[in-house]
Amino acid sequence: MRLPVLFLLLLVALSVNAQPPVEPAADAVSGRTALVIHGGAGVIERSQLSAQEEAAVRAELDRALDAGQAVLAGGGTALDAVIAAVRVLEESPRFNAGKGAVYNALGEHELDASVMEGHSSRAGAVAGVRTIRNPVLLARKVMEASPHVMLMGEGAEKFADEHPGIERVPNDWFDTPHRRRQLERAREREAAERAAGVDAADAEPGRYFGTVGAVALDVHGHIAAATSTGGMTNKRWGRIGDAPIIGAGTYANEQCGVSATGWGEFFIRAAVAHDICARMAYRGDSLQVASDAVVMQRIPAMGGDGGVIALDREGNIALPFNTSGMYRGWLRADGSRGTAVFAD
Ligand code: ASP
Repeated sequence: MRLPVLFLLLLVALSVNAQPPVEPAADAVSGRTALVIHGGAGVIERSQLSAQEEAAVRAELDRALDAGQAVLAGGGTALDAVIAAVRVLEESPRFNAGKGAVYNALGEHELDASVMEGHSSRAGAVAGVRTIRNPVLLARKVMEASPHVMLMGEGAEKFADEHPGIERVPNDWFDTPHRRRQLERAREREAAERAAGVDAADAEPGRYFGTVGAVALDVHGHIAAATSTGGMTNKRWGRIGDAPIIGAGTYANEQCGVSATGWGEFFIRAAVAHDICARMAYRGDSLQVASDAVVMQRIPAMGGDGGVIALDREGNIALPFNTSGMYRGWLRADGSRGTAVFAD
């Protein structure tokens, strides 16, 4: 029984070798691409998230997956795919990025975003922008049309003035009633902490939640990652989190890509996104081992919390988080896809 099978296999192998190289068929293209997205990690209790709201959030995640998948399935770049996916989430008022961004202590919005392309090591970021409808598009513009990696505040806005394709909106365009209520609750809590004599340095910052990000692997084997956020509720003094910092909230190289969400101060100190990729490069860790080590051990040991989405050039994905939930979605190299909120 075995010999004929071996003979057949040999014949197949010989005939495959005899073929001239051909372009991959469309279905083979999607078979080698992958995409992961997140809509933020944090305290998401089942009791506080109605079935209807969960369905609505997951529908938005699906729309973001669709946008990225359309790019990848057409043979497009990982860079275009992550921008397309993040843009959908920035446009949704349900996430803390673009429309629906949290309020700072002045009752305004300051947005951060970044993008990195792995094979070229190019990166772009903006921090503390106030009138940019889609900060991820400006981050990409910084990468592609300036000699710099990160622009902040007024300077970033001036740079945007020079690029008419970047849509501008008044700051209150980002307003949403639910973020306003979050600001009011954060103010009350901080006032109570002050009254109780809690040292400002020990006080918990306003709850973060809803930052968005995407990481993609394209048919060329290239990886890109992007992250966008309004930061943390009631933030002050021009506070900037990890999301626009290359190596903290976003990182990609030839082997690995990461977008993070969580308590940004800890993610900056731990250089989370870079650390995951560095563990793979220097220690030979798998993507899962590297991301678990950082998200499930290092960050909690420091006192922080949050999660990441990550993928490697083989199309493996890892989505660890140490909070009660993380809005996330995935599209694997084998074509399977899904969205989830809670750990189970
Ligand atoms: N990491 C973001 C920040 O610290 C917040 C978040 O992930 O929701 O600005």
